[in-house]
Amino acid sequence: QALAEIREKDGEIHAFLTVDEEGALRKAEEIQKKIDAGELTGPLAGVPIAVKDNICTKGLRTTCASRILENFVPTYQAEAADRLEKAGMVIIGKTNMDEFAMGSTTETSAFGPTQNPAAPGHVPGGSSGGSCAAVASGMVPLALGSDTGGSIRQPSSFCGVTGMKPTYGTVSRYGLIAYGSSLDQIGPVAGNVADCAALLDVIAAYDEKDSTSMKRDRYGFSDALKKDVKGMKIGIPKEYFGDGLAKDVKDRILEAAELLKNAGAQVEECHLGLIDYAIPTYYVIACAEASSNLERFDGVKYGYRAADYEDLDDMYKKSRSEGFGPEVKRRIMLGSFVLSSGYYDAYYLKALRVKALIKEAFDRVFSEYDMILAPAAPDTAPRMGSSLEDPLKMYLSDIYTVSVNLCGLPGITIPVGKDRNGLPVGMQLIGNRCEEAKLLQAAYTCE
Ligand code: GLN
Repeated sequence: QALAEIREKDGEIHAFLTVDEEGALRKAEEIQKKIDAGELTGPLAGVPIAVKDNICTKGLRTTCASRILENFVPTYQAEAADRLEKAGMVIIGKTNMDEFAMGSTTETSAFGPTQNPAAPGHVPGGSSGGSCAAVASGMVPLALGSDTGGSIRQPSSFCGVTGMKPTYGTVSRYGLIAYGSSLDQIGPVAGNVADCAALLDVIAAYDEKDSTSMKRDRYGFSDALKKDVKGMKIGIPKEYFGDGLAKDVKDRILEAAELLKNAGAQVEECHLGLIDYAIPTYYVIACAEASSNLERFDGVKYGYRAADYEDLDDMYKKSRSEGFGPEVKRRIMLGSFVLSSGYYDAYYLKALRVKALIKEAFDRVFSEYDMILAPAAPDTAPRMGSSLEDPLKMYLSDIYTVSVNLCGLPGITIPVGKDRNGLPVGMQLIGNRCEEAKLLQAAYTCE
């Protein structure tokens, strides 16, 4: 059924870069046999899923939406993808994204943009735009995305689906092609909160192959849905609801806040502070890490190599010049600059210090509140093509999402209605570290 949906709809939407028809059907048959024999009993056994194309899938092309990895077929499987298969899920294909997850619209993909199924002519958001569009259009019930600075939460908001960025260290990054290693986290994209929790239950686990993986006391996220929000304290940072937030987005979110109040939560304004520093701090750190992580794509070990070159240096230069797109190059240059001697203290070290202050600001709020209620983006999905000429404007639109990654916190986006033009509006709930269960509880109340 999922394959039929993809055949019918994906010509227009372009959520997928690769569809594994043969492999998916073969696996579905194997899984059906195991289900019939009682060997697979988990709630997601037999469920088809789409996987973002920066998550390595053994034997299945993984491109990061970049020319430089256009023909890269991994010889190993990401831990998160492996856990899907162990739970009996069927990986049906790989989804479109901004090149190397750098962007907020899925338009920096080397293979063309994805359409927003909930808002034709508008971008799906990014960088996990393909995963969110695949779920929003009903091609698959579930998808995996990755979130370095909002890439699950912002496109979920633009497409009207539910997406979660777990606490850093909750889902293994083994086999996730790194963008900003201290910020990256894989997470679920789903059509509702219960599905989101069920998928998180499958992928969250300690993994010794990821040195930043965390051993948690409790998993079992689906159990959280049985609880209510009575007595919870929810803070609305006034800095997040000032100028720069579209009126319809603000109105829809505050209406959803009423639902939480009616369900017994205490919802009130709070003070967060330092929000003007989030974007510069994030972009210094993310680009610095990216410039280092992307050094490995040199035409020798993986993917694309230029056809003509004079010597080794020339081969590196040409392969990288031809293989990377403009946004990726911009960030490699920015990152190399802030890490270079003479500028390291002024930019990179300073950004690390500011990051610590931002973390303290969140800690202060969490000493009083169970969670923070926030927008996911300043406005609904922009029109296709309107963001590309002005990268700085695009960076600024990440204002509500990047701090969560800087501080390693969990965040969930759920749909809370539409704006006056019929475009989906999302609301973000941000929790303290390891408090996904509370977020799911509150999100479930708003559904
Ligand atoms: N839009 C942000 C960026 O371009 C976040 C991307 C992400 O989370 N992968 O860096």
